[in-house]
Amino acid sequence: MGPRALIDPAALSHNLQRAREAAPGSRVVAVIKANAYGHGILWAARVLDQADAFGVARVEEGVQLRQAGVSREILVLEGVVDREELIAASTHGLQLAINNPWQLELLQRPGLPCPVVCWLKVDTGMHRLGFAPQAVAAVWRQLQDNPAVKGKVRLMTHLANGDDLRDDTSRRQIAAFRPLVERFGVESSIANSAGILGWPEARSDWIRPGIMLYGASPFIDGSAEADGLQPVMTLESRLIAVSHYHRGARIGYSGTWECPEPMRVGVVAIGYGDGYPRHAPSGTPVLLAGRRVPLIGRVSMDMISIDLRTRPQARIGDPVTLWGKGLPADEIARAAGTIAYELFCGVTSRVDFQEI
Ligand SMILES: *Cc1c(COP(=O)(O)O)cnc(C)c1O
Repeated sequence: MGPRALIDPAALSHNLQRAREAAPGSRVVAVIKANAYGHGILWAARVLDQADAFGVARVEEGVQLRQAGVSREILVLEGVVDREELIAASTHGLQLAINNPWQLELLQRPGLPCPVVCWLKVDTGMHRLGFAPQAVAAVWRQLQDNPAVKGKVRLMTHLANGDDLRDDTSRRQIAAFRPLVERFGVESSIANSAGILGWPEARSDWIRPGIMLYGASPFIDGSAEADGLQPVMTLESRLIAVSHYHRGARIGYSGTWECPEPMRVGVVAIGYGDGYPRHAPSGTPVLLAGRRVPLIGRVSMDMISIDLRTRPQARIGDPVTLWGKGLPADEIARAAGTIAYELFCGVTSRVDFQEI
């Protein structure tokens, strides 16, 4: 039996509730793009039945949800790239972010099966997608006058530095966005997880939690536990070898770690082929039968080595947790120079997902 990702529906529901408590009165677009950050999009959609809407990145993700029978509002955050996608979005009742003039032009052509709910994306400083604030009035009118657009055009924006509570960019972005919302008197959305938990001014009609739903912190140096979040995924494997090496023995590829004394070393069946980060350095903790021990040497494709000096009882078959309950994914991500988002999305199909 290889590595398993144990996924906890109660934790997912709890974290959604946490988002609601942080922004009472806001409706929730639960973001389940990228296979629900690696947790399983259909599983997440089923568990998050208290969400008001779902957010996905691409049309095909929305179509997948519809084909699985999901009838809730679905917002496609990237919008469409061609007419074919627009027709699919219209057919399946997907809502679209309108991010650029090309998408406006696609909407102008006649013959859509049904009108589409549109969210005009305002670029208040992220400089990735969206219209500059000065362009918004004209675009908003053009959309609102288009018979292919259903109902009132909503406004949205996205925070670029929400993860850094000492950075002033979020405040400036919100200040650029608010007057537009007031001017058009429409529903709006600003906050991702960082906005929901860290920037009260970012809470508006709709919030868009992603990473917090999965129980990781959206903040630089943040702690999910301090944010009241519970880990949804626990990545587990087992010890598959225990060996004794002499002082000076070098462990693994390139021999980057040297035994400082005669010692036992364990091998765990997890590697970058499963999505464990190859850049996790020696010293990165794992939980062996519930206690922390350090990884030593390079991460291989299928295996890692761990230092068993403090665990003389360790035996082949013992369970090992790589992240999740008892070992925050944020901590492992930080050690590996990345973010929990990437760890979750990177778990590969070789890992067996099981609901607990
Ligand atoms: C992914 C995404 C979110 C969710 O972000 P988190 O940081 O995971 O909460 C919200 N809004 C947009 C536009 C996104 O692309």
